[in-house]
Amino acid sequence: MPRFFCPAALSTDALLDLPAGAARHVQVLRLQPGDSITLFNHGPGWDGPFPGGEFDATVTRMGRSDVQVQVGAHHATEREASRAVHLAVGMPANDRMDWLVEKATELGVASIQPLMTERSVLRLTGERADKKVAHWQSVAISACEQCGGNRVPAVHPVQTLAQWLKAGVSHDATSPAHPHRLLLSLREGSRALHSLAPKLADALFLSGPEGGLGPAEEDAAMQAGFAPVSLGPRVLRAETAALAALTLLA
Ligand code: SAM
Repeated sequence: MPRFFCPAALSTDALLDLPAGAARHVQVLRLQPGDSITLFNHGPGWDGPFPGGEFDATVTRMGRSDVQVQVGAHHATEREASRAVHLAVGMPANDRMDWLVEKATELGVASIQPLMTERSVLRLTGERADKKVAHWQSVAISACEQCGGNRVPAVHPVQTLAQWLKAGVSHDATSPAHPHRLLLSLREGSRALHSLAPKLADALFLSGPEGGLGPAEEDAAMQAGFAPVSLGPRVLRAETAALAALTLLA
């Protein structure tokens, strides 16, 4: 049954005009009155209440661009990761960041913080950065609709690493005050993440872009409480490393 993120109040028996994004998606799929769909609302653009889980719904009217549905039964189904894992990533260039956002969402990431670092190839500021973040957020929504996740991970506004560390590493408000802060690092002496993983609760991973983080950037991260961890002897691509770390904990 087609699933749609619906940033609006959801309650059984309510008649609801779908928000524009969901309505557009229903129109594209050429659904008709009587068709059954699934709705969930935990994500950007809706400040709650969040009943959690998902709702059955039935299309009651298809307008030119608007869609009305009758909300049905609620199901407290949650398919989230067992631990809240947040990724702060030196953005890889081209469509690799799209790929990273999509795969991280499928793997249950809690939030994504795109970072610009000294060696970043992809440099985004102002309106261009905002547009990119909006695009990545839509990638995360689509990935949730596809994979069955009922909590859309927040994709935060782009920051430089220095700004982000200075601001006290603010991340998703839903995460505990101090998740384990882990720096994915190639430097000697980094502890193997796979041996640490079983003992960790929620985590916040910081990783570099294609060219890695500079030594001073890694030092600054460690001063901010990040512990260097290794994913093994091979040098992984930026997007591979972030997903590998997420998979070890999610
Ligand atoms: N030449 C760069 C360097 O030496 O840092 C390679 C950077 S790598 C392509 C991109 C990022 O992935 C790194 O900054 C690091 O955060 C992470 N990474 C890659 N391989 C890793 C590994 N084996 N262990 C831990 N982190 C890794």
